Amino acid sequence: MIYADNAATTKMSNSAISAMLKCMENIWGNPSSLYNFGQKAAEHLNQAREIIASCIGANANEIYFTSGGSESDNQALISAAKIGLRRGKKHIISTAFEHHAILHTLKKLEREGFDIELLDVHEDGIIFPEQVANAIRDDTCLVTVMFANNEIGTIQPIGEIGKICRGKNILFHTDAVQAAGHLPIDVQAQNIDMLSISAHKFHGAKGAGVLYSRKGLRLTNLIEGGAQERGKRAGTENVPAIVAMATALKDACDNMTVNNNKILSLREKLIDGLEKIPHSSLNGDRKNRLPGNVNFCFEGIEGESLLLLLDDKGICASSGSACTSGSLDPSHVLLAIGRPHEIAHGSLRLSIDENNSAEEIDCIIKSVGEVVEYLRSISPLWKDKIIGKREFILK
Ligand SMILES: *Cc1c(COP(=O)(O)O)cnc(C)c1O
Repeated sequence: MIYADNAATTKMSNSAISAMLKCMENIWGNPSSLYNFGQKAAEHLNQAREIIASCIGANANEIYFTSGGSESDNQALISAAKIGLRRGKKHIISTAFEHHAILHTLKKLEREGFDIELLDVHEDGIIFPEQVANAIRDDTCLVTVMFANNEIGTIQPIGEIGKICRGKNILFHTDAVQAAGHLPIDVQAQNIDMLSISAHKFHGAKGAGVLYSRKGLRLTNLIEGGAQERGKRAGTENVPAIVAMATALKDACDNMTVNNNKILSLREKLIDGLEKIPHSSLNGDRKNRLPGNVNFCFEGIEGESLLLLLDDKGICASSGSACTSGSLDPSHVLLAIGRPHEIAHGSLRLSIDENNSAEEIDCIIKSVGEVVEYLRSISPLWKDKIIGKREFILK
């Protein structure tokens, strides 16, 4: 099997598994228990908090453990909206290509009376700081822009947007789920007030995440109960997964340069290879993207068929088109960067990491080429294009 879907989830690293197992075997007390055995678990939790804080330039008391990226996104937005409401501010700025954990939470806030403004995304997959500056109003309470996009991998000018928001005293949240462990993050230098992280996107376990919230911001509880997480997130902490998350994030940050250099050279090889397929086009800026992200559109192809045939060849990938999920609409991200419906349906995301090899990249290039050629050969629509009855959209 060739795994090229690291944006969906990653394999746990050996060090994270071993930290988790050790914790499950020896540190299984309840961190809220007062006896020594419980306090040992609390110590592990606090160590994890320190480690994670130091990876993003935060203080340990600004780190809240959650169940993952979706929960962190929900809590950040709902908290910021509440803070806004108390000051009579109901305008929220975001972008059209956020993750659904953001977009659906914004929809909910819209139903509650908030005024949601989604910025258009440039065809390269970038939000410009001026767009944010121009959208800010007197009643803006929150700006939320993702650090790097999960489908097309493009990296946003987070530091510049943070500076604009801080200058206007407006809260700034970023969904950094795709960035954490893969790109340098410094919440101080980048003026980030709130930030979401998910462990399973950097070789940690599923079901563990972090909400960083700058000191002094009042969080709103999504889950009521005990006084865990300084009263802001009830429920006995998933200590093993949290300890594994800290291990994985520290590993990822310590080895970021070495890993990224390797991944970058694989990515360039992959893009060079896939670009040779006629009537194809890379989605998102070629340079300003996550080291491991490759996303192409192939004209005349249905993304889901492409995935199934690649699966037959042992390749795990992803597509923006997901008919089985019950939605006939192609990816909102590809539509946001201006891809026509027909083209957006034929997308393929390959997200690689440091565990992939050059041989695997060669195999992916060859397999995608074969599958695209086969699918086109059986497509009536493609035949029409060949004989000139329909126009090609991609050159
Ligand atoms: C994966 C992902 C999420 C959701 O994280 P979970 O931990 O799976 O809930 C949110 N935002 C982005 C950008 C993601 O890639």
